[in-house]
Amino acid sequence: MKINLAVIPGDGIGPEVTSEALNIIKAAAGRFSHKITLTEAAAGGAAIGKYGEPLPRETIDICKQSDSVILGAVGGWQWDNLPGDKRPERALLGLRSSLGLYANLRPAVLHAALSGACPLRPDIAQKGINIMVVRELTGGMYFGDKGRKRTDMGEAAWDTELYSAEEVRRIAVRAFESAIKRDKRVTNVDKANVLESSRLWREVILSTAQNYPGVSLNHLYADNAAMQLVRDPSQFDVIVTTNMFGDILSDEASQITGSIGMLPSASLGDSNFGMYEPIHGSAPDIAGKNLANPIAAILSAAMMFRHSFALSSEAAAIESAVTQTLEAGYRTADIYSEGMKHVGTKEMGSLIKKGVMDFAD
Ligand code: NAD
Repeated sequence: MKINLAVIPGDGIGPEVTSEALNIIKAAAGRFSHKITLTEAAAGGAAIGKYGEPLPRETIDICKQSDSVILGAVGGWQWDNLPGDKRPERALLGLRSSLGLYANLRPAVLHAALSGACPLRPDIAQKGINIMVVRELTGGMYFGDKGRKRTDMGEAAWDTELYSAEEVRRIAVRAFESAIKRDKRVTNVDKANVLESSRLWREVILSTAQNYPGVSLNHLYADNAAMQLVRDPSQFDVIVTTNMFGDILSDEASQITGSIGMLPSASLGDSNFGMYEPIHGSAPDIAGKNLANPIAAILSAAMMFRHSFALSSEAAAIESAVTQTLEAGYRTADIYSEGMKHVGTKEMGSLIKKGVMDFAD
């Protein structure tokens, strides 16, 4: 296959983990005889430095001309005092909306070799964690009407949670389709007890569920879902939720699997095109020190092969190389425990690359 990828390394640890993910993509392409073409584009703080804005038109064009996008992370202390619409993070919202990527798939899996890194009680961790969080990505409060005004109580500000039935339907379809390939259970998370937007959300989830009689559906309020995730995460298969609840709950789900440095994500729309990125940020506290865990970025590359190109052996080669490397005891600092072999970003990337090249179908 010929695959054209746009690559946005971004800021902080973004370029470090992206570089390792690209080495793995090249290794998988070599192992399975694909031709990969990479085109680098700037977004976030890197683009502010070069173009004076976080998401230049040229970057959107490069992404649109590609088959998929590999993204590192954006943001950093240097840009923290810029107004909201000038900040590096603005590039993420702009990329998602201009590329029509409304569904964010965030698998949270506790690898057996890392069960000691799970902060939950061992009897809870032993039951296993394998959750797919399906987060709506281009609607809700992050995109709704917002503003400020003077009131009798001083300055006031608002953000609007707005969802159309169609926006809910298409993310519900993603969740049910995902569940069919897994354990056939969907948990809808909303706040239908207080929010009108959640009541519409739930109505549409319920009507969409009628097309999926083989999938069981239950509902949790977001506050209860946050509690259940630490009480008994094994109860979840697929979680479908709004942009904001998904943002919060997927970070919680990531932490109970050991480290945010382990978790990949895929942002998808209606076509095979996708944007693949680790769920973590630019981690300025460890940037440039060879300390970042590249596994989230590497597993994002595996998701790309599976979701955008239906190349499941390539994805399996990457996932099994990650598992083998962890089982052999190699750990970056964020997942290190006594008795393990401590490695940096580059070493972890090289070990996984070797596993991909040696992969036997
Ligand atoms: P963060 O995810 O960057 O870091 C949180 C903590 O996790 C830090 O202690 C960091 O060192 C650690 N960490 C993150 N990724 C790691 C990895 N791969 N290996 C080891 N440790 C890792 O979140 P933050 O500190 O809240 O945000 C830092 C910057 O990133 C901010 O500017 C924020 O806006 C931005 N951000 C960007 C994205 C994105 O690009 N998708 C997502 C979240 C935050």
